[in-house]
Amino acid sequence: MSDEQALLREILELKKYFGKRLLIPAHHYQRSEIVEVADLVGDSYKLAVDSGKSDADYIVFCGVRFMAEGASVLAQEYQRVLLPETTAVCPMAEMITYEKADRALSLIRETCDRAVVPVVYMNAHADMKAFCGEYGGAVCTSSNARKILDHYFAQGKSVFFFPDQYLGINTGIQMGLHTHEMKKMTRDFRIVPVFHDDTSTHEAARIYVWDGFCPVHQRFSLTQIEALREEYPDITIIVHPEVHSSVAAAADLTGSTEQIFAAVRGGAPGTVWGIGTEYNFVHRIALEGARWNKIVIPLERNLCPNMDKTTVSSLLDTLRELKRIDLDRNLTSAREITVDHTIGKDAAAALLKMIEIVEGA
Ligand code: SF4
Repeated sequence: MSDEQALLREILELKKYFGKRLLIPAHHYQRSEIVEVADLVGDSYKLAVDSGKSDADYIVFCGVRFMAEGASVLAQEYQRVLLPETTAVCPMAEMITYEKADRALSLIRETCDRAVVPVVYMNAHADMKAFCGEYGGAVCTSSNARKILDHYFAQGKSVFFFPDQYLGINTGIQMGLHTHEMKKMTRDFRIVPVFHDDTSTHEAARIYVWDGFCPVHQRFSLTQIEALREEYPDITIIVHPEVHSSVAAAADLTGSTEQIFAAVRGGAPGTVWGIGTEYNFVHRIALEGARWNKIVIPLERNLCPNMDKTTVSSLLDTLRELKRIDLDRNLTSAREITVDHTIGKDAAAALLKMIEIVEGA
């Protein structure tokens, strides 16, 4: 038995020890060996909703910090949430703070001739979700951004969208917004056009995006798409909406990880797919695709270094630590993720608002 097999075996034994008192959610971007031992696998929306419904005593979230914070926000008081790798943070989530969002929203509200509501992408820290809850906005994910924006546009409101500019812009384009209806708030608090040919003023914009971005998805390029199209003329290119808008425009489809997976699964046998998102995930779809007689090719092998931090070894260490906590509930762990009560209350309001809009509750 290899070392890794021995570690996996111990993980399974510890899972057996905890039974239904333990939930291990894993994001699609996690390593395959983590996905294999997880109880739930999905995109950030699915994981937030399903973890929120769980009554397990312990949630060991295999992902990055903002995801574990989201689980903690929706958790009951008796539930404890742990993140195996404490340094696994999303750089995009670090690109905005409460103070910056507050200043940006005030400036936009002074400029815009409509009411402006904040909408935060799931990939943000709990205080940013709380900011949205406090100002009557909602969280969104890449699978439901359009629904959330539709909801506020139908009320005649404009939206301050953060931290990812590209999810905001790509969704706006998909909704048929004109170039002058999308503006960007720079990090030095200037409202500027998103598109170079836009010379309009700022009052009538529908979306004001913060200029955050995902460093992993920004590495996908038009050149990669062109090269794949040349080699496979019938290829369908599908990319995650965090890519640059020129890359999204050149693709055939955009979608969240769940939507990408569903598109490939639903495609006809023999089809060829070029995928622009994180490589751990694309690699797994490629293996699945081969079973369904479909060819799946990454635009480029872009791993998210933070998602990739969680290993079998760090997961096992977390479960060992959890067993000690289980035997003595007074013990604490550096891996435990807690959110301040006031922040948690407002963040939960913004998360629940998203679920209410999406599920039509
Ligand atoms: S893929 Fe991008 S957005 Fe997702 S966790 Fe990594 S850096 Fe953050």
